Amino acid sequence: MNKKMEKILYLPNPRGFCAGVERAINIVELSLKKYGPPIYVRHEIVHNPWVVKDLEGKGVVFVDELSDIPKGSRVIFSAHGVSSSVKDEAKEKEIPFIDATCPLVLKVHVEAKRHFENGAHIFLIGHKGHPEVDGTIGQIPEKSITLIEGEVDISQLNKADYTKVALITQTTLSVDDTAKLILSLKKKFPDLIEPPREDICYATTNRQTAVKSIAKKCDAIYVIGGENSSNSLRLVEVAIQSGCKNTFLISEIKSIDWNQMENFNSIGLTASASAPEVLINEFLYLFKSKFESRVEKSTIANENISFKLPKELRE
Ligand code: SF4
Repeated sequence: MNKKMEKILYLPNPRGFCAGVERAINIVELSLKKYGPPIYVRHEIVHNPWVVKDLEGKGVVFVDELSDIPKGSRVIFSAHGVSSSVKDEAKEKEIPFIDATCPLVLKVHVEAKRHFENGAHIFLIGHKGHPEVDGTIGQIPEKSITLIEGEVDISQLNKADYTKVALITQTTLSVDDTAKLILSLKKKFPDLIEPPREDICYATTNRQTAVKSIAKKCDAIYVIGGENSSNSLRLVEVAIQSGCKNTFLISEIKSIDWNQMENFNSIGLTASASAPEVLINEFLYLFKSKFESRVEKSTIANENISFKLPKELRE
């Protein structure tokens, strides 16, 4: 390895765990302590393979559906949220559950229900098949909500079919791409009711702004995050769109091609909202052992947010 050429490592903040992910993982760990293993979690608690594996090692069993849970067991719903029918099913089957849905996702659920009660048809900007989107759609009758994934979906909407329309979005979208879609929707529906506060959450926005701030200076950017994580995928897209073509999504540190990294002099490192600090530290340790380097830290926002635990898990 080339130890001679000094590399610059840009380390922008914020990166890594957000308050919603911290709360969800905390809920699982406290439940393990309080109720003992096994604890069942419907869907990956957050989209990160390291986190999932770590919790599995502690006695967590991840399942796709409630039917996979043995009688008498307890279940936790993931940070992405679940549709009302899943909660109803749990009640019907008398499966005790703890809801680890991020409060910022719950805020979008509340908006969806309010718009529905007020007689508005809802446009939801999001990615089809993502558990958060399924959970949000499942708050109201399906015919009252239309998923918008791109401009094509907007062009296919017939204005005359709607009298009152409202907008909600997934929390982990690209801020810039979503702004463009909202603009197109508003062109077609000038009376579109928008969320009082943006649905894209603070953590998504801050991590994208942080990666944008270094993109032009970097020969390569490494985004630590899960391959099924919307937050992580959007960070990669934002880095590329902002000027760093060599952007890599790293779900495991062992998958990094350190030989390829020799070709880059300025390197950026960030982590999605569901990626743990331990992976950042592992990257830094190996990076410093392989290359002469200088670290440039920057902070574009200070995050002091934390969310309350469900009452059954508070001390
Ligand atoms: S990324 Fe945003 S919405 Fe998702 S868990 Fe974190 S704070 Fe909540």
